[in-house]
Amino acid sequence: MSTIPKLLALPPLSLYIHIPWCLKKCPYCDFNSHAVHSVGDEQSLLEESYVAALMRDLEMALSDVWGRRINSVFFGGGTPSLFSASSIDRILTAVRTLMPLEHFAEVTLEANPGTFEAQKFADYRLAGINRLSIGIQSFNPDRLKAIGRVHDDQEALRAVEIAQDNFDTINLDLMYALPGQTFAEAQRDIDTACAFGVSHLSAYHLTLESNTLFHRYPPSLPDDEQTAAMQDSIELTLRQKGYSHYETSAFAQPGKESRHNLNYWLFGDYLGIGAGAHSKISFADKIIRQMRYKQPKEYLARGRDGASFTQTQQVLSNADRSFEFMMNALRLHNGFETKLFQERTGLSLNVIQSQLQEAEQRGLIVSNAFHIKPTILGKRFLNDLLQIFLPEADALASQTNYIQ
Ligand code: SF4
Repeated sequence: MSTIPKLLALPPLSLYIHIPWCLKKCPYCDFNSHAVHSVGDEQSLLEESYVAALMRDLEMALSDVWGRRINSVFFGGGTPSLFSASSIDRILTAVRTLMPLEHFAEVTLEANPGTFEAQKFADYRLAGINRLSIGIQSFNPDRLKAIGRVHDDQEALRAVEIAQDNFDTINLDLMYALPGQTFAEAQRDIDTACAFGVSHLSAYHLTLESNTLFHRYPPSLPDDEQTAAMQDSIELTLRQKGYSHYETSAFAQPGKESRHNLNYWLFGDYLGIGAGAHSKISFADKIIRQMRYKQPKEYLARGRDGASFTQTQQVLSNADRSFEFMMNALRLHNGFETKLFQERTGLSLNVIQSQLQEAEQRGLIVSNAFHIKPTILGKRFLNDLLQIFLPEADALASQTNYIQ
């Protein structure tokens, strides 16, 4: 009979709030996001019903996280900046009323150019948002068109200016290896982003995810050699500008790492509310994963009927615990303290001893009694490194690409 590993303490808890609408669906996007079809009053009613559903969702989830404090809040999407500041204010007021929020908790809102109005962003700040993450993707009008974004270069620049008038802590999302993109264009994008001096940058390689329009009708993309040159140059530029490359795609000025994302990567807990949101919640004797109903229509209907919002729930096996810990923590360039593995999974590090040895022998990690981290080779071939930690049965079956 296998024993159930116990956690001696619960990890930090974050709250994720999903807003599933965008002005238009981008052809490369596989997030749970849907084009808004409603306008005016109809849109306000939809927003109001969704805010009410989110509040019910949070109330119903309380029994799973009773007595715990929230360390960070993240409004993700979709495009949360489609919602009015008063809706965001109502949601945050409900959060503060129902759960203790840490003093100085990081509260992030994702925003897209095309939804920026100066007053609205000043009001977000007043509502309690203290970090903005902007989906710029590129400052080049032709590349923005090529990836089907609704905004152009002028709106991208204006969005950053409005953000900087109201927020000190800002992340810009950029993408590279875009259809038709040259090395010089990718370099110009990163130079433009750096010139703003924002505290955090995320640089993602465009990937053609299944279930997207680009997967069905692939555009012509830069080849592997050009893509590698862009990546090297982006990393070098950001290093020279004083950003630390602390995770596969994330770069931060000193002390400005995303606390919310660090909690995910260090296998912390998160409660996800909203359509399709995922949760990972620890208890002394189990760790569960949940997913909310994905379609906004269905999610809203469950809110109206007073039914549960949770569509699936599973208890993680021991193998899931160790693999998921490693899959997240090895994305961090500084790796993790060895004691954290036991703290967060309830398992001894001995359960992955042979995999650790293999990873070290192949030059993908370095480790000592206190710390494990990926080497330069391990960072570059992260998929190969993660495959080593896949549970046996999955290792044969899986061709999954873990890197986003
Ligand atoms: S704006 Fe972002 S979330 Fe919305 S469709 Fe485009 S990529 Fe997806």
